[in-house]
Amino acid sequence: MTPVTLHDKTFDSYLSEQTIKERVRELAAQISKDYAGNKGKQSVLFIGILNGAFMFASDLFKELSIDAEISFIKLASYSGTKSTGKVVTAIGLDQDLFGRDIIIIEDIVDTGKTLHEFLPKLQHSQPASLRIATLLHKPEATQYELTLDYVGFAIPNKFVVGYGLDYDGLGRNLREIYQLSGNE
Ligand code: 5GP
Ligand code: MG
Ligand code: MG
Repeated sequence: MTPVTLHDKTFDSYLSEQTIKERVRELAAQISKDYAGNKGKQSVLFIGILNGAFMFASDLFKELSIDAEISFIKLASYSGTKSTGKVVTAIGLDQDLFGRDIIIIEDIVDTGKTLHEFLPKLQHSQPASLRIATLLHKPEATQYELTLDYVGFAIPNKFVVGYGLDYDGLGRNLREIYQLSGNE
């Protein structure tokens, strides 16, 4: 496919719509298998992280064959006291997570800092289990200890856009995932 230009930068096609679709189906099948035992007990609660994960969350959710609920949150990060450093809080989390099986849906794990700081806060609510499903992971960039339970694609440490991910607000509507051109 042809490159796209967003603002001042050019991006090359990297993961096709079909490739993404097939991988999302595989992830949904794996999750459905892993949580099949929940049937008749408690449904799985998916929590999508806005904005980037909206498209992946929607497509993944459609492919699930288990009883599932979904909710979306935004993560806001602000400077806390010196001892706490940056504090990540969730906006819009209205469910009681106590005793629930939770799967966080992320678009991409880069340094891993966001989830590393946010997960302990969710653990405070004492869910029965807490897993992460991320469409993309940049292993070379990840500096924080994190267990990623479901990963769509491990990708090189290059900036990507499309399929929910933006470059300064643009590119979320693209059906494919694009990578910043090599010469930029
Ligand atoms: P972290 O470094 O905390 O793992 O990543 C935090 C957030 O940075 C991701 O959820 C995502 O919103 C953004 N991010 C990281 N890498 C990329 C990238 O290659 N492209 C885009 N569009 N966003 C990214
Ligand atoms: Mg994100
Ligand atoms: Mg962004």
